[in-house]
Amino acid sequence: MNPRRVSKPIQIGGVTIGGDSPIVVQSMTKTDTRDIMSTTTQIKELEEYSCELVRVAVPDHEAAQALKRIKKEVSLPIVADIHFDYRLALAALAAGADGLRLNPGNIGDPGEVTLIAKAAKERDVPIRIGVNAGSLPETGDPMLPIAKQMVAAVLKNIRLLESLDFDRIKVSLKAFDVPTTIEAYQDIAERIPYPLHIGITEAGTPHAGVIRSAVGIGTLLSLGIGDTIRVSLTAHPREEVIAGYEILKSLNLRQRGPVLVSCPSCSRAEVDIIGLAEEVERALAKVAKPIRVAVMGCVVNGPGEARDADIGIACGKGKAVLFKRGEPVGVIAEQDFVRVLMQEVERF
Ligand code: SF4
Repeated sequence: MNPRRVSKPIQIGGVTIGGDSPIVVQSMTKTDTRDIMSTTTQIKELEEYSCELVRVAVPDHEAAQALKRIKKEVSLPIVADIHFDYRLALAALAAGADGLRLNPGNIGDPGEVTLIAKAAKERDVPIRIGVNAGSLPETGDPMLPIAKQMVAAVLKNIRLLESLDFDRIKVSLKAFDVPTTIEAYQDIAERIPYPLHIGITEAGTPHAGVIRSAVGIGTLLSLGIGDTIRVSLTAHPREEVIAGYEILKSLNLRQRGPVLVSCPSCSRAEVDIIGLAEEVERALAKVAKPIRVAVMGCVVNGPGEARDADIGIACGKGKAVLFKRGEPVGVIAEQDFVRVLMQEVERF
């Protein structure tokens, strides 16, 4: 692991991004923002899964107005995602958005960008400049490799904000292609002091998307690059948050909730270890306590892993040995596996 890149911290609501603060896990609502009830419910659910920052699309004035009511109902900081229309950015700021995500280049008119920068500065609200490989401005040099075009587009937007004396900036440059994304972030990381939001855009459905994101985000984090992450999945946003924490836990960068150690199963297993591990995973999903739980299929390799965990079971036919802090403490019957494990997790 490389040491973490030093970035200039910014504040979004009560959350610090950059500097030496923990790497922040964020997601985005997938409801119609104008539907206040559904959006609020989804944000509250994300909070239950320890999401720390949520982005909300603001496609029109009604959505910007809805933000005001949504802000009153939830405690997570909200970033308003704006494209093209400076009036939506101003309305989102007036509605209490804690952050903006927009590309000044998309707004176009320098006078309008000035108005946004002024209003954001007055409210101490940061702006994320987010460039995606799929929507690069036409003004770029098409002969350059995509990663270089992305960096050029970001730098142009940054210079525009800096010229307006605005420096509460966060930056992202995402592509679907993992090597392109890594190359772009490595390049920008050396050129600017601002915190970086990292992710792989349009990564896909949970199966392939989590792997693609884990490879991209994990590589960047191991290079010391990244202050906040989003795993973009074609799925409920809670899956993005769960995956985000799993990536951070895999690199020992954050501790959140349990780590589940489970064996892959083989012909030695005398219980349905796949079904059991899935059931335990579901039961552990909302537990915030950092605890290592092992579910092992037999007495050959099982006791070793179960012993290394805080709580573990090594299963035999119809029963399992329960381990706590490495010591066998009893035998439990198959019908009680999940209930007793969860009871022990609660007590631990
Ligand atoms: Fe097979 Fe036992 Fe290893 Fe599970 S722990 S994979 S059942 S040998």
